[in-house]
Amino acid sequence: MEGYIHSVETFGAVDGPGLRYVVFFQGCPLRCLYCHNPDSWKMAEGEKKTDTELLSDILEYKSFIKRGGVTFSGGEPLAQPTFLLSLIRKCKKHGLHTAIDTAGSIPLEISRSIISEADMLLLDIKTLDEALYPELTGQTIHNNLETLDFCEEIGKPVWIRHVLVPGYTLVEERMKKLAAYLKKYSCIQKVELLPFHKLGEYKWEQLGHPYKLLDVPVPTEEEMALAKKIFEVE
Ligand code: SF4
Repeated sequence: MEGYIHSVETFGAVDGPGLRYVVFFQGCPLRCLYCHNPDSWKMAEGEKKTDTELLSDILEYKSFIKRGGVTFSGGEPLAQPTFLLSLIRKCKKHGLHTAIDTAGSIPLEISRSIISEADMLLLDIKTLDEALYPELTGQTIHNNLETLDFCEEIGKPVWIRHVLVPGYTLVEERMKKLAAYLKKYSCIQKVELLPFHKLGEYKWEQLGHPYKLLDVPVPTEEEMALAKKIFEVE
């Protein structure tokens, strides 16, 4: 079976527990204003690989990642569902922990069986604001929240990720609302707050996409400290 890969990171330390092999899938249905990998958006681009080839690349690092695992990130890994499911099964056969790093943008009819087989999700919640969500991502919030509800239903461990963009998500009232909303989920083990940055801005330029956040500043230390207090994270 073949799939499209954007890139890999062999010693990932921030995408799930422990040291991990991270596979960045090509293709994403969202168009987040702050995306730092707009070159991962188009489907059927990037490097074409079979699941067997990719698994053998991963296994070369098994001794380093055996206490961590493999994270499937993107782009949106669930946008290549059959390829992803096959890789998860193969990794698990070799005793490797598997995580899906997703924005929850794929309908549950497609993603349900795959989420069930992975060991955990890193789930990006862009915003709870129904009007802001399409402005930030180009899609509606529905699949995102349904994905979280499904994880709660089946007890799948979740690490939430939330990008703080001044004037968009780094707004006290919105943060308080989201923090309160997340409290009711027992599947959530951790909330990670990620400060907005502009490292991918040059890619937007190269691809000829207008970058709408040019004038948005990165969060200050004080703003991040306030956000951490609201979400009660370290
Ligand atoms: S979900 Fe991730 S890869 Fe897709 S557009 Fe948003 S930030 Fe970029």
